[in-house]
This record gives sequence, C-alpha cells and structure tokens, in this order.
Amino acid sequence: MTEKADLQSVLDRAAEGGRITPEEALDLYRDAPLHALGAAADAVRRRRYAGTEHIATYIIERNINYTNVCVTACKFCAFYAPPKDTAKGWTRDLDDILRRCAETVELGGTQIMFQGGHHPDYGVEYYEKHFKAIKDAFPQLVIHSLGASEVEHMARISGVSVEEAIQRIHAAGLDSFAGAGAELLPERPRKAIAPLKESGERWLEIMETAHNLGVESTSTMLMGTGETNAERIEHLRMIREVQDRTGGFRAFIPYLYQPMNNHLKGRTQATIFEYLRMIAISRLFMDNIAHIQGSWLTTGQDAGQLTLHYGADDLGSIMLEENVVSAAGAKHRSNLQEMIDMIRTAGRVPAQRSTTYEHLVVHDDPANDPVDARVVSHISSTAIEGGTAHPELKILASN
Ligand code: SF4
Repeated sequence: MTEKADLQSVLDRAAEGGRITPEEALDLYRDAPLHALGAAADAVRRRRYAGTEHIATYIIERNINYTNVCVTACKFCAFYAPPKDTAKGWTRDLDDILRRCAETVELGGTQIMFQGGHHPDYGVEYYEKHFKAIKDAFPQLVIHSLGASEVEHMARISGVSVEEAIQRIHAAGLDSFAGAGAELLPERPRKAIAPLKESGERWLEIMETAHNLGVESTSTMLMGTGETNAERIEHLRMIREVQDRTGGFRAFIPYLYQPMNNHLKGRTQATIFEYLRMIAISRLFMDNIAHIQGSWLTTGQDAGQLTLHYGADDLGSIMLEENVVSAAGAKHRSNLQEMIDMIRTAGRVPAQRSTTYEHLVVHDDPANDPVDARVVSHISSTAIEGGTAHPELKILASN
C-alpha cells in the first residue's frame, strides 16, 4: 500500500495529467481524501476542456425497449422474462417502434437507444430490418444502441461472425454502440451476476472489432453487486488497455445497481461516496477517454450534480422512456427544465449535445431556456400525454 506522502505525490501526478498504474489507482480509490480526489479529477477535466470547462452537457434521447424476452437470465436484471414465461414476456412491433421514434423527434430528441433482451429468435436480420426502417423514416435520429452481448447473441442466432453482424447492422443504420452488457468485466464478479453472458475478455474483443470496423461506442460499469474495489479498478484497466489500441470509446459511464425485483435482491448497493470516488478515479485513470458521465438516473439529482465537481463533464440524458433500471427500483425522473437547472445550479452552463458530444444548444441565458414541459423522462412507455401533433400517431399505452 502506498504511504501517505507517496499517495499525495501520485494524486499530484494524476492531477497534472500523468498516467497512473492500476495499483496506484486502487490506492487512490481506497485511501485518498474524498475532496482531494475530486479536486484532482476536476483539474484534469478543466485542462481537457480548457475554453469550454464552464459547460456540462446532456442529451435528449429515448430508450426503446423492443422486447423483454431473454435467454440470458442475468441475476441483477429486473427487466427480462424467460421465453417460457409468456404472461410476462412481450415484444413491440415495428409500427409501435416507429411511433416511439416519431415522438422522440417531435420532442427534440436526437438519439434512440434500442435496448432489449436476448430474444431466442432475433438474429442479425431482425436488427437490419428495424434499423433500416427507422433510418428510412427518421434519418435525423442517431441510433446509438446495443452492445457486445447483443452482437454475440445475434451472430450466434444467424450463424455468422461478429464481424459480419457488426458490418450488416452498421450498414442498416446503427451509428454507434451504447456499451451495454459490460456490467463487470473481471471474471469472478461477472460470473456471479451474469453467468450466461460472454466473458469480459470477449465483450472487449467484440468492442475492439467494432472500433476497428469504424463503429465507436461508449463503455459502462455496473457498480454495487458485491464486487471488490480491486475488481472495480481491474474493470477500468481492461477498458483502458483496449482504448490505448482503438481510441473508440467515447465515454465511460459508471452507474449504480438497483436492488429491487431481481435475483440478487438484498445485496448491498454501492454508496454515493463510493460512486463519487469512482467518477473521480475514472477521470484520473482513464486518461485516454474523453467523457465521463454522471448517472443521475441511478444516483438521484443531488449526487448527479456532485459528479460535475468530481470529474464528470456530462449528465447523460433526459430519457423520454426508460423501463430497465426503473424496473429494479430507480425512480429518479427529470424534465428538460430540471436538467438545465440541475446543471446550472451545480455551477455549470448547460448545453444540449449530440451523440458525438457537439454542443447543439448552449443555455447561457436563462431568459432563453426552452419551455416544452413535455420533454420529461418517463418511467412508463408513454412519452406524450394526450397524443402528438401528428394525427396519425396514436397515444401509446403505458405498460
Ligand atoms: S441484462 Fe440484458 S441480457 Fe441480462 S437478463 Fe437482462 S435483458 Fe437479458
């Protein structure tokens, strides 16, 4: 373990932008004073974004959950239904999905996140068909969706290589991968919570293949299912190593496990202090990843604001629809004005961003804030109360 004086010198080196080893990251994560860790991470963020360091970003997007039927049965998941449970399982048809896309466009959303279970019948063809239909109808929507686990699954169902699967869904309209399914990459905690998922090494191998094929992604980490501090840092090391080779991870997004309605029920959650330490160490250790996102959806708004002072530069999204982490207990919601206020009262200028982090609208004058109260995150499936301005669009049933 690093001595106290040495810990300070490691922290100083990290704050100045020097690379730290996994061992040093673990020592800082465990032992550095919380505020000193946050200040060092904030210094790194300010240097990286010199000139725009006063800005923090958000995006308006919609999660579209196309099915909850899944053969993978992850123990932390409160969303899925096994194929034999026909009472609980559901799928959405293409018209329904397109209506949800139309609502997203109408509410100023720029991105959709197609997210669902590993359906036993959904191969590459299913995603090709749906992505093509979405892009044909709404070319302005960015499809930032899926992850290595879905690619592994669809390639197996269709009997093709993951390279072919990635190339085909990219050609059909997928713009980038959302980094879903990373959970925890080290073997022990991954087997404990997602024993039927591909290994962490395989998850990274598929993301590396995608990056090499020109499809970038974000990366994520699920915190709080019983993993050790060393395993958390190992997760970061595994991602940083791939990033050194590809540069294809645009962002890193740690988020908190939600403990309700799943097979791990009763496990302890990570605390907000652990979460803030993780945001800070991510900024310090992942010196090759541009964006660190604070997950207000799983921590609540107050902790979300704090992440902006611990190295995060982005607060993720106003999710016009979310059914996955909310099924496991996350009930935090926000609307557009609240998101703007959340960032502004944390001392930053809010900016709506694109999927690739360009600033679309900078809210530098409260007098010009947007006023569309319909832009609100929903835990159910209905995005527009009372229907949309498009008469052909029916109100969606909440389920
Ligand atoms: S996390 Fe994804 S893969 Fe795992 S059970 Fe839930 S829906 Fe299936």
